[in-house]
Amino acid sequence: MKGVVSKVMGLYCTVYCDAIYINCVMRGKLRQLIEAGSKKFSNIIAVGDEVVITKLDDGSGVIEEILPRRNYFSRKEKGKHKKIDMIAANCDCVVAMQSFALPRLNLRFVDRIAVRCVEQNIPLVVCINKCDLAKKKDYEYVTNYYKSTDVTVIISSVNTSYNIHALQDILHQKTSVIVGYSGVGKTSILNAMYPQLSLVVGEVSGSTGKGKHTTTNVSMIIIDETTRIIDTPGLREFGIMDIEPHVLSKYFYEFDNYAPKCSFKPCTHDHEPDCEIKRLVQKGIICEERYISYRNILYSLKDYYATMYS
Ligand code: GDP
Ligand code: ZN
Repeated sequence: MKGVVSKVMGLYCTVYCDAIYINCVMRGKLRQLIEAGSKKFSNIIAVGDEVVITKLDDGSGVIEEILPRRNYFSRKEKGKHKKIDMIAANCDCVVAMQSFALPRLNLRFVDRIAVRCVEQNIPLVVCINKCDLAKKKDYEYVTNYYKSTDVTVIISSVNTSYNIHALQDILHQKTSVIVGYSGVGKTSILNAMYPQLSLVVGEVSGSTGKGKHTTTNVSMIIIDETTRIIDTPGLREFGIMDIEPHVLSKYFYEFDNYAPKCSFKPCTHDHEPDCEIKRLVQKGIICEERYISYRNILYSLKDYYATMYS
């Protein structure tokens, strides 16, 4: 039987199969095979993986095979021994969620998620929630930031119900991963879109604006047969340390489109003269803040690779 992994707990998984959830364990042979083949990843199976299982008499199951992945959404933090964490597999869409306040907006975090989405060819939706708390200049900043990219930006508020249906329409009939800091309103927006879920909403703790963790793990929520949400714990970090500095600009949507007009090929749009990207930043066609964010990521990757191979 075929199913989809909805939760992973070490070597045990919950698999959604024929409208029921089945507790499964991985066939030992399969485990060894995958472990031997991949030293890159911290986990060998992820939520969203499509699997073939055998059902046992006691109602549990055994995972026989993991079917080839269309893509996977992952992160890699700094550190010589850090491996790639596969957060989710086979995604149609990633929703990077932030809030205008509590916690504070940080589009550089979204830029790193965007790099991963381009690398894996997964469409990105940026949802900036709590617009009831936004100042006019924050609004302008957010709408300006991704203006020359293909990123869909949704500005929302659970408190005023603003754009909740717009987001729901985008997620319809897709498997979407929702990522963001804890406290931005992920749970609240899921409840607003799908009241039948009745998820528990956390409080933003004290004056730090950092939310408490109410979700500790990644899990798939089956809304209906074709609409699925992969909810992730409030991620504080989102590293892309597996991306080499010289390829970074390829994963910055608008930079890659305009790069053919740079004199240097390839151009990292940093120190090179006669650079089209720098020209477009000066003309205001590419948002300056986004260019600064690009350079910031570029330098951090260069530093990292220099220490890794020195
Ligand atoms: P999560 O950690 O991302 O799942 O965030 P929660 O959904 O638990 O929400 C954290 C806090 O933000 C709660 O106190 C919510 O009531 C509040 N919140 C969620 N959405 C909004 C919104 O649109 N506006 C405002 N002002 N507060 C919100
Ligand atoms: Zn350039």
